[in-house]
Amino acid sequence: MDQLGRTSETPKSPWGGCPPAMPSCSLSDVMSQELARQLEEENKAFPSLTNPEVSLLSGEETDTNSDLMLARLLQMQYDRECDTQLRREERKYNGESKVSISFENYRTAHPYDGSESSEDEVDWQDTRDDPYKPDKPQVTPRKGFTGKGKNITTKHDEVLCGRKNTARMDNFAPEVLVGDGLGMDLKLSNQVFNSLKQHCHSEQRRSARLHDKKEHSTAEQAVDPRTRLLMYKMVSAGTLERINGCISTGKESVVFHANGGMLEEQPVPEEVVLKVFKTTLNEFKNRDRYIKDDYRFKDRFSKLNPRKIIRLWAEKEMHNLARMKKAGIPCPEVALLRKHILVLSFIGKDHVPAPKLKDTMLGAADMKTAYYQVLQMMQQLYQECNLVHADLSEYNMLWHQGQVWLIDVSQSVEPSHPHGLQFLFRDCTNVSTFFQKRGVAEAMSVYELFNCVTGLDLTINEEDEAEFLAQIEALEKRNEDHVQKRGKKTFPLSSWDGSPPLKHAADD
Ligand code: ADP
Ligand code: MG
Repeated sequence: MDQLGRTSETPKSPWGGCPPAMPSCSLSDVMSQELARQLEEENKAFPSLTNPEVSLLSGEETDTNSDLMLARLLQMQYDRECDTQLRREERKYNGESKVSISFENYRTAHPYDGSESSEDEVDWQDTRDDPYKPDKPQVTPRKGFTGKGKNITTKHDEVLCGRKNTARMDNFAPEVLVGDGLGMDLKLSNQVFNSLKQHCHSEQRRSARLHDKKEHSTAEQAVDPRTRLLMYKMVSAGTLERINGCISTGKESVVFHANGGMLEEQPVPEEVVLKVFKTTLNEFKNRDRYIKDDYRFKDRFSKLNPRKIIRLWAEKEMHNLARMKKAGIPCPEVALLRKHILVLSFIGKDHVPAPKLKDTMLGAADMKTAYYQVLQMMQQLYQECNLVHADLSEYNMLWHQGQVWLIDVSQSVEPSHPHGLQFLFRDCTNVSTFFQKRGVAEAMSVYELFNCVTGLDLTINEEDEAEFLAQIEALEKRNEDHVQKRGKKTFPLSSWDGSPPLKHAADD
């Protein structure tokens, strides 16, 4: 025990025993030449400690005494496994979907990934995942050869290198089909191997670039990460069985084909489309007048942020389709609405969407039938559904099972909308022009069609479109005045005989 009462024993620490103290050395020891030599010898036992990567990657026997080296080896192994797992998950996640998510950014960048081999020299450092295991050639020592005399084998031995190169092809990206070169003892010269490797590298870079562009462009077309998540959730919840390819990418929406699953124990149709309204905000502004002035949405419009307004488009299409369905107009049926994604029944069969009317090559009889169907649908839409399509043309009419189907009604408005009749006039212009061009002799002029659809009796002067438009604007103005006087609700224009409106819609 010393003067302070401590025993000579090492005190017991609650965290375990202390390591034994280093033996002390005197000044004369430090200055000893003998000790200096001994330390030098010890250092030689760790030749590559200063640059562990050199020995690690050159294929030499690695010195496992080095903690740093071991750590790096483990890290490499770990990274490799993570990358393999990531690739697997990426493939599983994307399946055959056209919209794919790249996990590439989560991959670990290895120092050897960037190694560019020279024209004729194989990158000997690239020994990762060397599958040449069954009869792996003995490690070529630093001196570059093994054996003696005639049996000498250098690291440039053609057969050995050839086999090794063939085996290395297995390390090419998974999408590169390399065949079974090992099985048939294929020997690839360094030159061939290097060119192949170069080719694969550039192919990978090219496909990464393409993928990148695709990602970017799809995002531009509304399938942003949030939307993808929504779509993914529909699949994982079983509402959709799977989402297939993209049918159409328009300015305001992207349409996907999908297979329906179950929703609240009810089957979703076998084939459906997902109409994804664009969430990029540059386009919708052009369209806000369709919704801003639609009294059904007016109150809500002013309070909403742009993202939510886009949801209104989807909601608007859903309501309009419901009205059409009720009136018996052939149109898609709404299966589900989730934010800005509308799931609709598919018009078409076996993944093939019905053609747009503009793309059909109908005979004269079918074209005439189509015309009369369109005429009837326009009347029903106006008179029974109290709607004007507002984007009616051969692009938004599909030909399926011998009849015309109306689609794309997100912008449709009630006739009492401040510009409703002008929209209808435009619809009539498109329809008349199309059918007249396609040789339907019975096709009415735009003015006749307008009167026929609305039941109004506006004066027609074929030569004077402005005159006709003036009548339409006058009607709209009177309606607008009426709305201002009497509140939000409007009267149905279709029942107006031309006299000043007296009745409120709610009174009807
Ligand atoms: P957009 O506002 O982008 O024009 P649409 O509703 O017109 O949106 O859809 C774009 C295209 O997608 C259509 O021209 C049509 O080819 C296809 N499509 C849309 N809905 C369906 C559907 N229910 N069934 C089959 N194809 C559809
Ligand atoms: Mg359309």
